[in-house]
Formats: sequence, structure tokens, C-alpha cells
Amino acid sequence: MANLLFDALFAPLGENDRRLLILPDGREVTGRQFAATIARFAHALVAAGVQPGDRVAVQIAKSAEALAIYAATVAAGAIFLPLNTGYTAEEVAYFLQNATPRLFLCDGAKAAALAPVAEAAGARLMTLNADGTGSFPAAAAAQPGQFAPVPRGADDLAAFLYTSGTTGRSKGAMLSHANLLSNAEVLAREWRFTADDVLLHALPIFHTHGLFVASNVSLLTGGAMIFLPGFDRDQVIRWLPQATAMMGVPTFYTRLLDDPRFDRQLVEHMRLFTSGSAPLLAETHALFEARTGHRILERYGMTETNMNTSNPYDGERRAGTVGFALPGVELKITDPATGETLPQGEAGMIEVRGPNVFKGYWQMPEKTREELRDDGFFITGDIGEVDADGYVSIVGRAKDLIITGGYNVYPKEIELILDEQPGVLESAVIGLPHPDFGEAVFGVLVARKGESVDADAILAALSGRLAKFKQPKGLAVVEDLPRNTMGKVQKNLLRDQFRDRFAG
Ligand code: AMP
Repeated sequence: MANLLFDALFAPLGENDRRLLILPDGREVTGRQFAATIARFAHALVAAGVQPGDRVAVQIAKSAEALAIYAATVAAGAIFLPLNTGYTAEEVAYFLQNATPRLFLCDGAKAAALAPVAEAAGARLMTLNADGTGSFPAAAAAQPGQFAPVPRGADDLAAFLYTSGTTGRSKGAMLSHANLLSNAEVLAREWRFTADDVLLHALPIFHTHGLFVASNVSLLTGGAMIFLPGFDRDQVIRWLPQATAMMGVPTFYTRLLDDPRFDRQLVEHMRLFTSGSAPLLAETHALFEARTGHRILERYGMTETNMNTSNPYDGERRAGTVGFALPGVELKITDPATGETLPQGEAGMIEVRGPNVFKGYWQMPEKTREELRDDGFFITGDIGEVDADGYVSIVGRAKDLIITGGYNVYPKEIELILDEQPGVLESAVIGLPHPDFGEAVFGVLVARKGESVDADAILAALSGRLAKFKQPKGLAVVEDLPRNTMGKVQKNLLRDQFRDRFAG
């Protein structure tokens, strides 16, 4: 038996003398060099006691070595568990207690603080620093540059990715070799990736977008990656002329559009920009096209399912939609209360089934049963609708649904209208506790730079356009909407901030 994911993504690198990684200091790493690092790291994992099926948890900066740890973990038949570099020691403690990894790698600067956390979870601690040094690479240095991958099949687990957990505790989504490989294959085909592509990679690699969508697609097709430690506008502008494709979250694109250096000439040679992880405003889509001539390709996915839908490579990339279900992925819209499929055009729960859908939440069988149906459909928690042409739109998260006086209100419908109002840059609509209505619709606005917004005029304008129960009972203006690293608006923080607004 072979090692399914390793054989497809990493084994071919051993014969590849082309550049695989282009690093911010200009250094280049060839496929063959990277394959040798993977082999040494895999030996070092085994020497550290890692056995097939063990978890290897990491909280390390993005680097070529960090990517090699992922590959080495897969080679060793173990399960890769990357953690957000922003997590505190207390947060890391939860993940280590829950996943009980054999080995935990962290930055040397945090080792003293995290040592007791690792010890309490029974994990061995080693270090890997942003510059590639540390006790782990030191232990790997003398290891051989060849490693025979541990056999792993389609249903064996390759990674645990914890959900970002804005409500309740974060859950470990168990992803198999076939989950990851099938999605990389579909995306590579749909988005026409080849060995000639150079992907500008500025996403974090502790999240599905940067680790799987971006890295796996590029590795599978044998292309190169400009591997930047994070999104830095100057760096991105500097490297774009050498790239052919870029994957980003919407905030990457709004930040680039804020810079006059980002123009048509800079990206003339590019063939693809994709966006996901958070909604791309139709306005950003239009501004981007006007500035560059490129239409951003928006897609939709999540930690538990990899990617589910994509706008077409050829054909119309429709702004405000996330395109069609990917080949092999079944998508339906159901009544959140009954699970019955709704007629085309109605908004409801998005459910998906396919080889991309995860194996369940680690050690949370009851959560798994709540969200993963016996027939294989996963209840995404996203509310969406499908138009007559088959394009899927996301209306919002089910948990952001507002129920006011017994009526359901989808925030997106109101946000779209608020965004059109004079002086408004963007908005977030939330439900706040209200003595009469249960919840009251409330709008939080951000003004455009140098402009002001007139809340009373906006409320008056809305009254002609929305049913009374959908009209916000109040508006507030803030400097910025709170966002996480993937650009998602953290509505839970807004709900906390304005919680007492209608307290009776
Ligand atoms: P995560 O598991 O962190 O990747 O978050 C997944 C969630 O991000 C999905 O369930 C959606 O709510 C949201 N999401 C991802 N892509 C998009 C998109 N293109 N438009 C709107 N929401 C998105």
C-alpha cells in the first residue's frame, strides 16, 4: 500500500530540480532540496517517538520548514495539527488537552511559557523558529535525506483542523487523505493550475485556505510558490510581477485597492485571482475589475469540507455569488427546522456531500451526529440560496440569523442595502436582546474615509425599502468592524459590545 496524499503531493518533488519555493529574501528552494528536508524531518519525527496515527501539533511561524513539517507528518503516517499563531498559552492548552499530540512544536521564544502546557497534555515539546532554527531542525540535521513513507490509505487521517469557534469551543475536524487529495485535484483542474504557475502565497498555513487550497493545489501540479510570511502590502506589490496566480481573503484585495501602485500594469500578466473565507463585496469585485481588468474568482468552503463551490474559470464569475457546486460535490438547500429540501430560489441551510466532507469531530461524537447526517450530508451552518442559473449565494451564518417578534431576518439582505447608503463603507447587522421582540435588528456602520453618515437619514431611507420587522431599531457607527485573521467579521464581539442597547 502506498501513502495516498504523500505520493500525490510530495513524492514527485524528489525528482524535481525546478524551484518550488521562492522566499521573501529571494532564496529559492528546489523540489529536490525540499524533498530532502521532508525526509530528514520525517526521520526526526519518528526519532521523537511519533507513530502512525499520532498527532503532531504545531504553533509556528509560516516558513519553508513549517510546510516541510506538514509533509513530514503525512510521510510518517501521523496527523498534522496546525494552530493559529495568535493563540495564547491558555488557548493552546485546550487544543493539546483535546488532541493529545505526541509532539508539539513551537517557536523558541514561547517554549518556556508553553512547556508546562505541553507537559500537562503529555506531549513532547521541541522548537522550530521562524528562521528555520530550533531543537527540531537541529535533531533532523544528521538524519538521512531519504525516507520511505508509511503506508496510508484513503480513509486514514492526515490532519486535524480546529474550527475557529466563535461560538462554543473549537472542534477538531478530522480530515482524511482522500478528503484533502480529492479537493486539491478538483480545484487544480477547475482553476487550470499547471507546473508553470507561480502562486503568490500570503495566507497563513494554519488554516484550510492557505494550507490546503493554496499549498496542496500548487504542490499537486508541480508549480512554484512565492511563500510570504503573511500579507504585507509592500511585499505583495513587490512580488506580484513574478506571480501568475494569487489566492486571498477579501481584505487582501481591499487593501491592495487602497494603494495606487496596484494598477492594471502591475497585474497584466496574472491569470487568476481567487477569493474566499469571507464574503467579497460586489463593490470590491467591481472596483477590482475596473482597476485591473481581472474578475476575481470567488469560491466557498470551510474547515470541515474543504471547498464546496466555485465560480467558473471560463464563463461568468458572478459578483456576490460563490458559483456552482464543484464536480463531485452535491449541494442542497434545506429547511433548517425540518431538513426538507426547499424549492429553488428559497433561502435555507446549505448541506453538502462528497469526497471533500470530513470524517467527524475528534472525540465529539454528539457534535458530529448533530451536523453530519447518516446519509453523508454535512449541515454547514451557512444559509444560502441558489438562483435560476445554479449560482449559489451565501446569505449568512445560521447562528447570525435574527429572530425578531417571531420573524426570521437574514442580516445580509439588510447589509446590502446599508452598504448602498451615502457615506457607508461597510456594515454588519446583528440581533440584540430586546424586551418586546426577543431580538432587535441593529446595524453597525463604518463610514468611508473622510465622509460622515447620517443615521436618521439612513433609517428613513430604509423604511421605504424593507418590511417594518426588518428595519434596524438602531444604528451605530464604528471605526472598523472586528475581523479575525481570515477577514471574517466577528459578529459575536459586536453583539457583546452593544448587548445592553435595548435592555428593558
Ligand atoms: P472556516 O472554517 O474558518 O474556513 O470558515 C468557513 C466559513 O467561512 C463558511 O462556513 C462561511 O460562513 C464562510 N465563507 C467561506 N467562504 C466564503 C465566501 N466566499 N463567502 C461568504 N462566506 C464564506
